[in-house]
Amino acid sequence: MKECNQCGKCCIHYADGGLSATTEEIQNWEIFNPAIAEYVANGKIWMDPVTHKQLTRCPWLEELPIESGVDSVKYGCRIYQDRPEDCRHYPTYIAEMVRDGCEMVEVQDLDTPKQAQISLDILMADSRPSLS
Ligand code: SF4
Ligand code: SF4
Repeated sequence: MKECNQCGKCCIHYADGGLSATTEEIQNWEIFNPAIAEYVANGKIWMDPVTHKQLTRCPWLEELPIESGVDSVKYGCRIYQDRPEDCRHYPTYIAEMVRDGCEMVEVQDLDTPKQAQISLDILMADSRPSLS
């Protein structure tokens, strides 16, 4: 199991209506981060502030400058410290990572999924509870 390389696949895949925020998170944005709350409509994220329709891409996902010697695009989250718990919890399970093409997964993880889950939970210790 490798560390996240910021390939952006998860944000691109799930932000098209596949993410949610809790009522508490939304209320906190309304009070402390109204710019984030603008992209919430009827309790759903991430919505167009004008039309209130579902956006097809997260408004906080940004392409990072290409580093020298690296040809793949990397992505960052412009609200990283304030992102919803749904985002903080990914990646959760090995099976979902494989399905999503998450680049943290290494070939040997497929042969040892229990160990891979333990390694993943250690890497994710700052973001979510352990699942192993
Ligand atoms: S809020 Fe941040 S972590 Fe969540 S989908 Fe958008 S860019 Fe990704
Ligand atoms: S898909 Fe995996 S490697 Fe890519 S940004 Fe998401 S967590 Fe990181």
